[in-house]
Amino acid sequence: MIYADNASTTKISESVLAKMLPYLRNQYGNPSSQYSFGIDAKRAIEYARKQVAVALGAESSEITFTSCGSEVNSWVLRSIVETHRNGPIHIITSSIEHHSILNTCRALEQSGIEMTYLPVDFRGRVCVEDVKTALKPNTKLVSIMLANNEIGTIQPVADIGRILIERGILLHTDAVQAVGHIPVDVNTLQVDFLTASAHKFNGPKGTGILYKRADLELSPIIYGGEQERGLRAGTENIAGIVAAGYAIEESVNEMEDAAKQLRAMVDVMVKDIRSRIPTVRVNGDIEKCLPGVINLGFEGASGESLMHLLDLKGICVSTSSACTSGKDEPSHVLLALGQTEQQAKSAIRISFGRYNTIDEAETIARAVCDAYEKIMAHL
Ligand code: PLP
Repeated sequence: MIYADNASTTKISESVLAKMLPYLRNQYGNPSSQYSFGIDAKRAIEYARKQVAVALGAESSEITFTSCGSEVNSWVLRSIVETHRNGPIHIITSSIEHHSILNTCRALEQSGIEMTYLPVDFRGRVCVEDVKTALKPNTKLVSIMLANNEIGTIQPVADIGRILIERGILLHTDAVQAVGHIPVDVNTLQVDFLTASAHKFNGPKGTGILYKRADLELSPIIYGGEQERGLRAGTENIAGIVAAGYAIEESVNEMEDAAKQLRAMVDVMVKDIRSRIPTVRVNGDIEKCLPGVINLGFEGASGESLMHLLDLKGICVSTSSACTSGKDEPSHVLLALGQTEQQAKSAIRISFGRYNTIDEAETIARAVCDAYEKIMAHL
């Protein structure tokens, strides 16, 4: 099998797995217990919190562990609304956010919250001036993702942060696809809240990360005990949290070399595909994008058919994001880029990770071209 769907999820790193296993086997103490067995577990969580904080340029006290990135996204938006519910609330986001943002926004809209969904240009970039123009006296939050999960485009979050800080408006960024792949520093970005998720940087599924600037309030997402400073009650997923700490450390340490390798794989694959299919379209921004993610459109073919033919060869790629695949709807991201429904449905996303090789990139290119030619021959 060749796994090239790393934007969907990644293989856990062996060294990270080794660090987490003891917490599933012998070190099963409850971090809230007051004897050494429990205190050791608590220490392990706090060590992981420090690792995450260092990786993001934050303080440990600004990091909260959750069950996933979706939880963080939903939590931040809903909590801001709860905090300001005594007056009119306006929130700005983009039209190409992950569904954990968009569907939360839609639910909030139903309860009377005013939303602005900013457009993007053909590369998938939000225009900073559009953010400025959309601001209203009652704008309480702007939520713009750092990197898109379908096309890899990186947003000018730091520039947006600069505008908002002058006006005292809060900024959240969904950095789920960015953390561990490109440098992410909360101070450079000037964000108040940030979302990350361990399974996107070779950690396990089931651990999300919230960065919340120290002086900001957020209402608890789960009431109960004092875990996570009372913000998220419930006995912690210690193994997952420990793994998130080591995974973020490892991915940040290896980021520079990994990015070079990933770019080389994308370049080789696109060049090989272009040589046989000159009409192939690169969807997104080839310059400001994640190093390993590429979204390609194949004129006249269906992305879904391509994906299935590749699957028969043992190659895993996706049509768009994992959350929307399986539905026969064109990607909201590609439509927002100005593509037609047909163009949007002709796309596949190939996302390389740390364990892919150039040989695999070449194999994928050949398989994609064979599959495309087969589809076109049967039309
Ligand atoms: N945000 C983005 C940009 C994502 O790509 C994803 C996952 O695909 C999420 C949020 C949700 O993360 P999780 O799977 O941890 O809930």
